[in-house]
Amino acid sequence: MHSPPPPVTRDLVLVGGGHTHVAVLKHFGMKPMPGVRVTLISRESNAPYSGMLPGLIAGHYTFADAHIDLAPLARFAQARFLRDQLVGVDLENKRVLCAGRPPVAFDLLSLNTGSAPGVRRVAGAEDSVVPVKPIDGFFARWTRLRERVAGTSHPVSIGIVGGGAGGVEIALSIRYGLARAAEAAGRAGDNVRIELFTDSSEILPAYPVRMSTRFARILEDDGIVVHTDHRVVRVDGSRLHFGNGARATFDELLWVTTAGAPDWPRESGLQVDERGFIRVRDTLQTLSHPDVFAAGDIAAVEGYPRPKAGVFAVRQGPPLARNLERRLRGASLAGFRPQREYLSLISTGRRHAVAARNGLTVAGRWVWTWKDRIDRRFIRDYTELPSMDGERVDDGPAPAGSSEAGSGGRGGASVGPGPAMRCGGCGSKVGSELLFRSLARLGATGHPGVMVGLDAPDDAAVVQVPVGQVAVQSVDFFRSFIDDPFLFGRITANHALGDVFAMGAEPLAGMAMVTLPLAAEEKMEEDLTQLMAGALEVLERDGLALVGGHTSEGRELAMGFSVTGTARPEDLLRKSGMRPGDRLVLTRPVGTGVILAADMRGRAQSLWIDAALALMQESHRPAARILGEHGATAATDVTGFGLAGHLLEMARASGVEVSLGLADVPFLDGAREVARLGIFSSLHDQNLRALESVRADPRVTGDPAAQLLFDPQTAGGLLASIPADRAEACVEALRAAGCPHAIVVGRVLTEGAASGTPGVLHLHAGPVR
Ligand SMILES: Cc1cc2nc3c(=O)[nH]c(=O)nc-3n(C[C@H](O)[C@H](O)[C@H](O)COP(=O)(O)OP(=O)(O)OC[C@H]3O[C@@H](n4cnc5c(N)ncnc54)[C@H](O)[C@@H]3O)c2cc1C
Repeated sequence: MHSPPPPVTRDLVLVGGGHTHVAVLKHFGMKPMPGVRVTLISRESNAPYSGMLPGLIAGHYTFADAHIDLAPLARFAQARFLRDQLVGVDLENKRVLCAGRPPVAFDLLSLNTGSAPGVRRVAGAEDSVVPVKPIDGFFARWTRLRERVAGTSHPVSIGIVGGGAGGVEIALSIRYGLARAAEAAGRAGDNVRIELFTDSSEILPAYPVRMSTRFARILEDDGIVVHTDHRVVRVDGSRLHFGNGARATFDELLWVTTAGAPDWPRESGLQVDERGFIRVRDTLQTLSHPDVFAAGDIAAVEGYPRPKAGVFAVRQGPPLARNLERRLRGASLAGFRPQREYLSLISTGRRHAVAARNGLTVAGRWVWTWKDRIDRRFIRDYTELPSMDGERVDDGPAPAGSSEAGSGGRGGASVGPGPAMRCGGCGSKVGSELLFRSLARLGATGHPGVMVGLDAPDDAAVVQVPVGQVAVQSVDFFRSFIDDPFLFGRITANHALGDVFAMGAEPLAGMAMVTLPLAAEEKMEEDLTQLMAGALEVLERDGLALVGGHTSEGRELAMGFSVTGTARPEDLLRKSGMRPGDRLVLTRPVGTGVILAADMRGRAQSLWIDAALALMQESHRPAARILGEHGATAATDVTGFGLAGHLLEMARASGVEVSLGLADVPFLDGAREVARLGIFSSLHDQNLRALESVRADPRVTGDPAAQLLFDPQTAGGLLASIPADRAEACVEALRAAGCPHAIVVGRVLTEGAASGTPGVLHLHAGPVR
């Protein structure tokens, strides 16, 4: 039996999955600190590696080649991964303010959020240009541009603002990428005019003259027109206005100028330099707040002015990790000296690059190969992670008390001894004050049907069922499958509501049951607040009032809801109503179970996880309404037993045989890949017992996708039987209402087609409409 993890006593929060924090995550994965919980907050789930961006645009690399997938890395680090955007820091209360959830508390904070071209410094630019960062926005725009150019022979013009390494590399990569796209479309030339503008008197002003002369020639050879001494003073729509009075108009305007800082560091009260970057010591501790560190582009190291380049952010990884660890231990911090000279490798669009160091330059295909090797090694360091079973270094117990670290300081990050273990039974109930404090912070709203709810001290809630209606009740409860309590709250609430909607009912009231892992009381309050905030958002979105709850301590985070809905008896949708000839309509793709199972093993791509998490939070309300409007005769929500298991339940209850076409069942991205790897949820084997009621076409037997029919779903889709003549209209309406994967997956067999064994599922390889 595993012993429970030590209670959380301190929170290390990392914001931004930049070049520095990937090293910090790996460090804490190799060397976890008992009692320290690491949390990563990142806007994107995939961290782009700057050195490979030009190659990604030119088409030498795939998205996966040039990005570090943060989900498996965070899993390796045993870190919570919160997909969110920092919008400020409440330094007094030590909380990170996020765009999409309640503030996240920290004891120690580290910021590695990078920089973005300063579009706000030029009037009109923010509204009209495409900044190269954030990269995902730029990459999506670039993909569309490439498709547009490939699909037209009309001339297209692109203006690029910025004559540093970024601007030059982007211009050359775009030229190369567009030429290849045109070639692939069967045209000789790309018909694209590219012009590059810089306010300096030459391109690459920070590099040796030989480098800028060489690149001026390469740009010219590639037909890219360079305008030096052109400072953009205003952008108006697609037109650039320059300080010298000139103007130029383009179809696309790309912005690759000097890095700028966001406003939030200054607005939050962090000490910043004249450009707005966070001032840090050579220990990477901020000048103003000893429990806040910063690294990479967002930081300005005192006494070591350096350009904003990924190479510095990368080098800061190990010293930052060591200093965060020292701060947590209460030990003194160690300074480091950023290097002055570094190797610059700039690609020329094709598989060719120029290197510069100490004033010397060399060029060639071999330089590109060299750069490629360095870049791929960096990505591999954070994507091919060692197996840590039994290998983690135990640091021993966390020290009690705190001592000053580094210079300055308002109390160390170390906190007192961890919470004592408590009793089970009623003794494990978390103090009601904690629950009420959390709920008070969130301000739950009421419901007209609730007579006695959260705002009353009574022993039980009282709800009024409207005259002529019946109460529809259900309960669900499960252990947390993700490390983000806010998202877990949202998904658990949505999952519970699925039962009410599947029955054709309207949500009325519900109660929450929560198990919180033991931690310092303030940590438990924070977790509960995040959890309940997520749940309340979804419950209120769908019109269900939270009227009570029970919270207790346990080994791991778990949550569930008892929910009550109301419906007119004649509107109820039961499993038993299927009629021969009905079509089976499924509203959502299948595969959440395998994606979550792969995530637990660090084997799922973030893109798959993000899509699955988004799906699990979507409301069933519009789909339930549409199924009802199209005369649904029976319905269920696809959850723990998987699609096949729930369909069999319906068939048995209705006394009919059903057929399902595997070819039409929609699956989440990644689900088939995971099934092929043989990774399944722990419930999967139990669900396979339903196979005794399945008559499968031999062509289906070897297909791993067939296994996905038994994959337990969390907040899975609604499955309904719809009269045959209304099924297509129903699917169309579902798609128009935001269920793009809605589809007819099978039918209820008529007497002539049936084998005479009610409760059997006939599984076919092809479609069964
Ligand atoms: C086209 C181009 C090519 C470049 N090539 C090179 C090169 O070859 N070599 C080199 O040394 N440098 C290069 N650079 C510069 C390099 O990109 C930056 O210096 C480097 O990315 C900085 O790293 P970082 O870790 O500080 O931040 P980033 O790599 O920008 O990472 C910051 C992360 O934080 C996340 N984030 C940002 N804001 C928030 C927020 N508010 N909340 C939550 N998360 C947030 C982002 O999602 C991002 O993943 C290039 C730049 C460009 C534009």
